[in-house]
Parts: sequence; structure tokens; C-alpha cells
Amino acid sequence: MRILVVGAGVAGTATAYFLARDGHAVDVLDRGEAPASEGSYANAGLIHASLAEPWNSPAAVVELLGSLARRDGTLLLNARQLPQLLGWGLRFLYHGLPGPRRANTRLNARLAVYSQRVLGELRGETGIQYDHSAAGLLKLFQSHKRLQAVRATSRMLEEFGVHHHVLTVDELVEREPLLEPTRGELAGAIHYPGDESGCPHLFARELAHRAEALGACFHHGVGVRRLRMQGKRLDRVITDQGDFEADTLIIAAGPEAADLGRGIGLRLPIRPVKGYSTTLPLGPDVPAPSVPLSDDGRKLVINRLGNRLRIAGTAEFAGLDRGITEMRVEQLRRRACETMPALAACLPGREEEPWACLRPMTADGPPILGETPIPNVYLNAGSGHLGWTMAAGSARLVADLVAGRTPEIPVEGFSMRRYRL
Ligand SMILES: Cc1cc2nc3c(=O)[nH]c(=O)nc-3n(C[C@H](O)[C@H](O)[C@H](O)COP(=O)(O)OP(=O)(O)OC[C@H]3O[C@@H](n4cnc5c(N)ncnc54)[C@H](O)[C@@H]3O)c2cc1C
Repeated sequence: MRILVVGAGVAGTATAYFLARDGHAVDVLDRGEAPASEGSYANAGLIHASLAEPWNSPAAVVELLGSLARRDGTLLLNARQLPQLLGWGLRFLYHGLPGPRRANTRLNARLAVYSQRVLGELRGETGIQYDHSAAGLLKLFQSHKRLQAVRATSRMLEEFGVHHHVLTVDELVEREPLLEPTRGELAGAIHYPGDESGCPHLFARELAHRAEALGACFHHGVGVRRLRMQGKRLDRVITDQGDFEADTLIIAAGPEAADLGRGIGLRLPIRPVKGYSTTLPLGPDVPAPSVPLSDDGRKLVINRLGNRLRIAGTAEFAGLDRGITEMRVEQLRRRACETMPALAACLPGREEEPWACLRPMTADGPPILGETPIPNVYLNAGSGHLGWTMAAGSARLVADLVAGRTPEIPVEGFSMRRYRL
């Protein structure tokens, strides 16, 4: 089969690899200059089934609404975005109720755990190197109440093989001495030994080479303008470099999946949620935690990726704006120094790479995978804060559906059919 994939982020690249491995003729179109140039370039790097909960918790919603008048919170809602967020936002609120939230957490967890297994198999079969680490994750809490709440969710995730251990502050500091200066503000931590981390950009670049070796062709610098139907089927993809035809199309265009889908009548409740990171080269004077740290109160991650240190966080409803605002990067740096004070001595004047990009977030939480009402169009989009975690598994699942194979995990909860209810 001739298959076109729009988008060469982690989702599109992994999908292209599995499709090429199945023997299809695969072309990937992406406006970037290389795989993973946008949302998958410099995220926090966590493969974290432990953080499977969607982001629509009541506390997050309250913080978001409170942020309408501020410019400096970890969660920000730009008032100008409210009209675009209206329908999506109501769904987001509804799915924040305990029942739907629990169900969606379970869906995410099952896919995340499956994806981690597929990722391991991919490493085995391709030998790709992407600064992979299996050190787990330490989630730090300033509040006992939050620790207990997250612990309750963590207990639920045990069913999927996501294990956790609660650490007292003494145990935490013994494990990560860099946290000694902040011990007074900490309530404890949860260690998730099964979580992993790695660089999504290296992963996509390496996997794209493996896909090319199997015959896939990556067309970079190609902007897709619109999709054209003929009758009930997709006919062609119209780009700024001419038209492309194929038997089947996979939309893996991150937040832009919603716009592309709309053009052919697919209403996808995906909205962009902006985040920032900054990355610095590790040197003898740069302190790096031995286990990735996720600070619950400050909503940021400090993670060592090979010979680099990445600080990532913040969530902002700012439309498709991917611009870097220095004030936001500075907030990230300042908060990282609060989490790990040893950073304060080395950050000023240090060479670093600030980055901002968009999480493609569905209103309910799980991504949208697989078939659409258009028989030759499939989706791999909307994985939100878990896009790197779920990339390998989602891609394999979509390739299975294209091939007519039964995927290894149930797909109903990820199908766009769920939005007709
Ligand atoms: C600050 C931050 C930290 C994060 N941390 C983590 C983490 O630790 N763990 C985790 O699992 N996830 C994390 N995420 C989320 C994760 O990065 C995303 O979910 C994931 O990268 C999405 O991948 P994707 O392939 O779906 O989309 P993208 O990577 O955005 O890829 C979409 C591609 O489509 C292309 N495209 C779009 N429109 C068009 C068009 N019209 N024509 C041509 N090409 C087009 C773009 O160029 C892009 O390359 C984080 C995100 C952010 C912002």
C-alpha cells in the first residue's frame, strides 16, 4: 500500500517506521528541516506511565481560571484563547469529574505501559541510541495532601505494573543529596522505579534513518496546505511543494491535526498547550540529579539526558504561538533553582538552549488513534503531555490497524468514535 504520513514528530516517525517494516511504501511530509523539529524536539524526556492522569484535575482548572489575570503562573490561560477553547473547555471540565478522569487515566496507563514495552523492543531490533536511561522518576511534594492524592492514583496504576515507593524526606535526601538544602520545604516523594527517560529528538532522527533503510522517504520542508476529498475518500494532499497522492493517509501533525482534520470534516478536540524547556551542557560544575526529578508544586522536571541537563515545564493556553518569551524561560530557571539550589551557582551566563513548543492535548486526555469515518484516513494525534511516553505504542497500534491486525491492547478508548457519544 502507498501511505502518506503527515508529521515527523515522534508519533509520525514511529508510525512511518512500523508501516515501512510492514512492507508499505511510505512517504512522510513535514514542514520542518528534520524529524522532531517541533513538539518532539526538546521536551522533558520522560517516559512516564506514572503520570498517566490527564491534566483536567479540579485543582488545575481552578489555577487556570485564576491565571486569566496573571502572566507568571506555571499554568496560564490567555484570555484571547477563550473563544477557541469554549467547546473543548466544557469537555475538558466534564472529563475532570472523578468517573471519566479515572477511566481516562486507566486508558493512558495501559497505553503508556504497552508503549514502554514496544520502545524496548524497538531498541532491541534497531539498536537506536537516544540517551536512554532507566533510572526511574522521583516526584517531589511540598504538600502532604498532594502526596496522598497522587499516591491514591499511583495505587490504581499498580494494576498496570506501574510500581511506586513513597519516600520520607530523609530517604529522599539520602537518595538525592542535591535536595538537602530544600529538605525543610519538602513533604516527601514518590519514586517510580519503572519510569525511563531519553531524548525524543535523537530517537526520531535515528528511527527515521532506520525507516529510510526500510524504504520510507522523508520529505522535509514540505508544508501541507490542505487535504482534498473525492467522494467519500481522501484523494490528495496539497502542499506548498505540489500535490501528493496515496492509498492511505495518517495524520500525525501534532496540534495542527485539528486544522487539517477540519478541512475534511473531521472534528478533533485537540488544542495546543504550550510548554518551555532549557537545556545546558553538563560540565563538572553543573549539578545533575542521578534520577529525573519532577517537582509537583513547581510543575517542572529536571532531567539529565546524556551529557546535557534539561529543565522543562509550564503549561499555557496560547493558541499556536510557539515563540520563546524570555520571561517564561527565566521563570523556569528560577523555579528550577528553587527545586535544586545548587543550580543557582552555575546557571547565570551559561550557554543554554531555550525552547518552547506545543503539546497536542485532547479534551478528555487519551490520544486519538486509528480509523476515522473516512476509510483511507487514520489518526495518530493528541497525546498531550504523554506524547513521547506513548509514541512507540501508539505508532505500533496504528500500523496494526492499517494492516488489519488486531492490536495487542484494546483500541476502543482511543478511537475518535468516542466523541460521538
Ligand atoms: C515542555 C514540554 C515537555 C514535555 N515533556 C514530555 C515528557 O517528558 N514526556 C512525554 O511523554 N511527553 C512530553 N511532552 C509532550 C510531547 O513532547 C508531545 O506530546 C509529543 O512530542 C507530540 O508528538 P507528535 O509527533 O504528536 O507532535 P509533534 O512533535 O508536534 O510533530 C508534529 C509534526 O507535524 C508537522 N506539521 C504540523 N503541521 C504541518 C503541516 N501543515 N505541514 C507539514 N508538517 C506539519 C510539524 O512540523 C511536526 O514536526 C512535553 C511537551 C512539552 C511542550
